[in-house]
Amino acid sequence: MEKVVSGIRPTGNLHLGNYFGAVKSFVAMQDQYQCMFFIADWHSLTTHPKPENIQASARTILAEYLACGIDPQKAPIYIQSDVKETLELYLYFNMNMYLGELERVTTFKEKARQQPDNVNAGLLTYPTLMAADVLQHRAHKVPVGKDQEQNMEMMRKCARRFNNIYGVEFFPEPQNFYFGEKALKVPGLDGSGKMGKSTGNCIYLRDDEKTITKKVMKAVTDAGPTEPNSPKPEVIENLFTFLSIASTPDTYQYFDEQWNNCTLRYGDLKKQIAHDLCEIVAPIRAKIEDYSANTELLDKVAREGAEVARASASETLKAVREIIGFRK
Ligand code: AMP
Repeated sequence: MEKVVSGIRPTGNLHLGNYFGAVKSFVAMQDQYQCMFFIADWHSLTTHPKPENIQASARTILAEYLACGIDPQKAPIYIQSDVKETLELYLYFNMNMYLGELERVTTFKEKARQQPDNVNAGLLTYPTLMAADVLQHRAHKVPVGKDQEQNMEMMRKCARRFNNIYGVEFFPEPQNFYFGEKALKVPGLDGSGKMGKSTGNCIYLRDDEKTITKKVMKAVTDAGPTEPNSPKPEVIENLFTFLSIASTPDTYQYFDEQWNNCTLRYGDLKKQIAHDLCEIVAPIRAKIEDYSANTELLDKVAREGAEVARASASETLKAVREIIGFRK
């Protein structure tokens, strides 16, 4: 059975970008693939070097993963820092990757712009740690959002280069997996490119109905359509993206027709989006509250997940050491 691995950094609560871009795919994949999902607490140090309570933050994401429907019996969940084998593979990959190619990664350049006083080596080698996360399990598929495409390209490069240097066919080249037909970018509702923790434009799975409705009703729009069948400006396209992920195809078509014949009222469209998002989020939010209160269960899930992940990673690392020429 093909293996699937993916993770999320515990730098805040899960938002709709994480959910529709990644976690929904995780849940859909757990019945068909051998899945493992992790919480990338080491990765979070690249942007948050002095976390307030990293263990509590990891538990928060764990509760949210479970509330979204990940079943740890089918898909073990572990915390990245519980599997030290990752670090060794990260070191080997770093030996084979070049400064120039790491510097060209868009997310590195973006982060370097966002935190000019802390352009650390962890940011630069973010893709090699991500490659170690996935390749230590020799996984084939990685469910991620559109923003991760370049990091995935780097991951395949790590695998290919290792295989070429040592003349082996050891690592697979993991493919991006999307829940729909193509990579999804959940937009921000503030007119900015994407929903993201660092942009402060998120709707969280923990948000209640009132909060979600308020955020959606405040979404940036324009003066409205004037010409029939005209292309949608970006801010309106963003609203329709939400409609496509939260509502039924019939509802989408209904509002699309209204756009095309210039009768669309943005207030109605926003109300519909808010309503449909609340329907999706409300049951998840209730479960988050239940799981968050059960720290014993959360710790057990993480402990058991770490055991599975360590067993899988240590098998890979033994083979890697042997391939390079170290003692096993
Ligand atoms: P992060 O929150 O940056 O650790 O991202 C965790 C996962 O959520 C990755 O697979 C991302 O691709 C996905 N993700 C984050 N924000 C978005 C977004 N706005 N649209 C689609 N996917 C996203």
